[in-house]
Amino acid sequence: MQITHIRGYRVALPLHEGSYKWSGGKSVSVFDCTVVEVATDAGITGWGEVCPLGPFYLPAFGPGARTGIAELGPHLLGHDPRDLGSLNRKMDAALKGHPYVKSALDMACWDLLGKAAGLPVCTLLGGRDGAAVDLYRAISQEAPAAMAARVAGYRAEGYRKFQLKVGADVADDIARIRAVRAQLQPGDVLVADANTGWLMHDAARVVRAVQDVDVYIEQPCLSLDECLTIRRRTDHPFVLDEVIDSVEALLHAHAQGAMDVINLKISKVGGLTKARQIRDLCVSLGIAMTIEDSWGGDITTAAIAHLAHSTPENLRFSATDFNSYVTVSTASGAPQRENGKMSASTAPGLGVIPRMEVLGEPVLEVAGGSPGSA
Ligand code: MG
Repeated sequence: MQITHIRGYRVALPLHEGSYKWSGGKSVSVFDCTVVEVATDAGITGWGEVCPLGPFYLPAFGPGARTGIAELGPHLLGHDPRDLGSLNRKMDAALKGHPYVKSALDMACWDLLGKAAGLPVCTLLGGRDGAAVDLYRAISQEAPAAMAARVAGYRAEGYRKFQLKVGADVADDIARIRAVRAQLQPGDVLVADANTGWLMHDAARVVRAVQDVDVYIEQPCLSLDECLTIRRRTDHPFVLDEVIDSVEALLHAHAQGAMDVINLKISKVGGLTKARQIRDLCVSLGIAMTIEDSWGGDITTAAIAHLAHSTPENLRFSATDFNSYVTVSTASGAPQRENGKMSASTAPGLGVIPRMEVLGEPVLEVAGGSPGSA
């Protein structure tokens, strides 16, 4: 089997809530999503997606994904998409860094591998564990009472895990954590995610002020060293996200006892192949994981579901159903949340069928060894 064509589609994904706000005054209203189609001479096609959280969250942005795919595409023509190890080595040799660009291509090749094998990606990633995957709901940064009201609403929809966007004014953040925890029941999980937004003295004040509250602290500061100083002065369980972007980063942080949980974002680490390696290391090391991505629609949500559902349940802290946050559906067959949980499809590959009427015409096409932009 050989790759014959790679096409890219641009889709705008608006939010049901209007906008998504987090630390540092950052917000996104419409996500710039790229869907990738990898076609083969065997007549089967794989689908992938990458959707950065705006251009200012990680070093990633929408047009960059498309430019990168056009750059990498010619190197992959003629390659067997089922040979994922050599495919990833080829991408790394052809383009240094840019993990988010490689993620969409890698994801599409996993879809192809599953279709060729007649098996869901979940099976190929280790096999389904448990009936369904618990989801968390991210709560956009607003006034404390408004965030508490959002949590009450999403709790009524079945979610039991909530991730508050903090990382702003210290007094406001303390009020946010207290107002939301008051809405929850024992057993519900609350995470305060500063998305790198606090300085160390801010974070120190917040963790001290909520010492009596059952809350996880997520990525309080920008660097691992800053996060470690906060980790050492609090007994709250600790989540690291933005700084865990590679195997090396994971092992270095683990060696310092820097976290209890990581957020494993597929495009942050370069695709399902590399995310699986980090997932498997976390299983061996006893580190729980939230399995997710920076953002996405139906195809990303399907990939998350396959990786999450094949992760041992006791180490699966939560996952994300991004397709329920956005107003546009790019594919049928993607997981649909039920009572705060989702399941990986049992169909071969990722189990998604793109809606071509939503994707429209390709904005990039690579075929016959020469890239082109439409
Ligand atoms: Mg986070």
